[in-house]
Amino acid sequence: MLFFPTVLCIVYIIVTFVRLFIGFLPMDKCNLESSTKLILDNRADISLDLRSRHKVQTCTSWRAPIIWEGMFDPQHYDQIHRKEGSSVALTVFAVGRYLEAYLETFLMSSEHYFMLGLPVSYYVFTDRPENVPNLELGPRRHLKVIKVEKYSRWQDISMMRMKIISDTIESDIRHHYTHVFCFDVDQVFTWRFGPEALGDSVALLHAYYYHLPKRMFTYDRNPKSKAYMETGDFYYHAAVFGGTWENVKSLTDSCYKDIMEDKLNNVEALWHDESHLNKYFWLHKPSRILSPEYCWDNKIGYRSDIQVFRLIWAPKHYEKLRTS
Ligand code: UDP
Ligand code: MN
Repeated sequence: MLFFPTVLCIVYIIVTFVRLFIGFLPMDKCNLESSTKLILDNRADISLDLRSRHKVQTCTSWRAPIIWEGMFDPQHYDQIHRKEGSSVALTVFAVGRYLEAYLETFLMSSEHYFMLGLPVSYYVFTDRPENVPNLELGPRRHLKVIKVEKYSRWQDISMMRMKIISDTIESDIRHHYTHVFCFDVDQVFTWRFGPEALGDSVALLHAYYYHLPKRMFTYDRNPKSKAYMETGDFYYHAAVFGGTWENVKSLTDSCYKDIMEDKLNNVEALWHDESHLNKYFWLHKPSRILSPEYCWDNKIGYRSDIQVFRLIWAPKHYEKLRTS
């Protein structure tokens, strides 16, 4: 008599554990019937097909699109952004040993895949400008090297990017480029990362968290930190974020202000600038979200919902590369 209930119970427990630890939680479905109801970051967004990817969430509750392979026509985005005169500043930091370890591969791969057809300028921040490799760039693509201080703690190198990006937008980028994209250097482009990723305010779903329930997100839980949050929408990855220069300026200003306030109070957020970025995007919803196809770690292994790898994590060698 008790056989069936017992078996059902066991199956339920196993499924729950598999979902929790291996992660097969389906994402919420997009509840918009058509793309005309989206926040439109760009005219081309009308053509997004929100139903083309069945297993994944293609829009947020606040009507922002989540961009997955198959939802968009790449050429359409190329054309519209070219017509509208979009142009992109890419910021990347290569301080200390990260310069030799990653910068050349990052930039060379970007020349093959990042925003081809639009004017692009790389803003490379480093403590040793003389060691930045001399690369031949495509037409209407430029590289600027800006010398920065090398903080002794890697956490500070990572966090102080916010201040330096904000200053550079103010002094330079705002006069020349419509959009800004900020990248970690320890990554390699392996497929198109095109204008479909451009928007007013762009966040990236973290490859390790996009399929997990919210309670597992590693937000900062210390009420003393400005990054503290109880809950959120998604867990965003700080390795890629962007938007119009105006929005990236607001984001970096706000994160920097909070980081400095934490320093005055002798606290540091759990995941440094990433914790502050998550807090910012909780309070100021991004208008566009990139799926983890835009920044994937091959160590995760096969996932049927990841149909293309546009940017992949380079191997990390923290013990050799980090300053302290
Ligand atoms: N970074 C750097 N030198 C360092 C530490 C960090 O240039 O010594 C920059 C680099 O662009 C790096 C980013 O800060 O990609 C974030 O650090 P990291 O990639 O180590 O963080 P993680 O990806 O592990 O969160
Ligand atoms: Mn990184």
